[in-house]
Amino acid sequence: MQGRVLVTGGLGFIGSELSRRLLALGSTSHLTIVDNLSSTILDYSDLEGHAEIVIDDMRNIDETRHFDEIYHLASPVGSVGILQHSGKIAGDIIGLAEKAARLAEAGGSRLLYVSSSEVYGRDGSHDEAVAQMVPCRRGPRMEYALGKLTAEHLLLNRAAARDLDLRIVRPFNAIGEWQSAGLGFVVPRFFEAGLKGEPLTVYGDGQQRRSFCHVSDIAGGIISVQERGLANEVYNVGNRDNITTILQLADRIRSLCGRGSPVQFVDPTELFGPAYIEAFDKIPDVGKAADHTGWTPQLSLEDALDRIHHHYRSRRDVAAVV
Ligand code: UDP
Repeated sequence: MQGRVLVTGGLGFIGSELSRRLLALGSTSHLTIVDNLSSTILDYSDLEGHAEIVIDDMRNIDETRHFDEIYHLASPVGSVGILQHSGKIAGDIIGLAEKAARLAEAGGSRLLYVSSSEVYGRDGSHDEAVAQMVPCRRGPRMEYALGKLTAEHLLLNRAAARDLDLRIVRPFNAIGEWQSAGLGFVVPRFFEAGLKGEPLTVYGDGQQRRSFCHVSDIAGGIISVQERGLANEVYNVGNRDNITTILQLADRIRSLCGRGSPVQFVDPTELFGPAYIEAFDKIPDVGKAADHTGWTPQLSLEDALDRIHHHYRSRRDVAAVV
């Protein structure tokens, strides 16, 4: 479908990739991006002139505006980003989701909500059919997980009670060019240290596992769910073939960078204080998205890391320090 499309958080790491793909598809007659630049480190000049870019809090969007589709991504992100919003993360996430719901209800828009794998709140291999069990561990990461889970339920309940056309995606560990090290994400942190020959800080013993998925695959999954996913359903989007321990990841990035950086094992609570909570295994089952939409991720971890490495090598701001 497409037509008039709104992407909230459309200048963020995932949102900008999604916006570019929506424009490339050609069926978006008018793309509006709203973003308050709270997590943007990327160059979005290529989007200027092709999209209406509104630098503002999405809560200020006029609710009489009509969009055929809304992709709602605006949210605090990243382990460090979350810490910075401690105490107001859940309220923000829920308030933003309510705004997205009101816009979609008023305009009759198809709404896609980008939630988070954090809603599983526990370790293991995550399947959408399993009821979430969020352990009661105090801290900002829990507040984030509970905010995202509450937003999902809020939207699903509104969709059941009113005329709201909804789909939900839970992305698992997106990586790619222009991800922010400053927000705490591991891949840019390791590259930025590795390219300077500095130690790669591995938290704990490095045996925690993630299944990383390139942002182009995440964006493709989001669009596939919006186009072909079933209404009021929740879909994991990630790459189950890219499982690695964090220590293995550090070794791969060290050898790509080739500057002889050592691995330094650190206790993250010494860096960020006791509010830092580790999530151990986060591995998605993505069979539902594949069955319902035909989408499957394409990029291997090796290819994704190669792309990110080339991107860093070509960035003038990084070239200045390596
Ligand atoms: N991590 C690490 N060193 C860093 C940053 C992160 O060892 O400098 C680890 C972190 O403990 C976590 C994993 O890398 O287990 C992924 O972290 P990220 O913040 O990218 O994603 P999330 O934990 O939210 O899945």
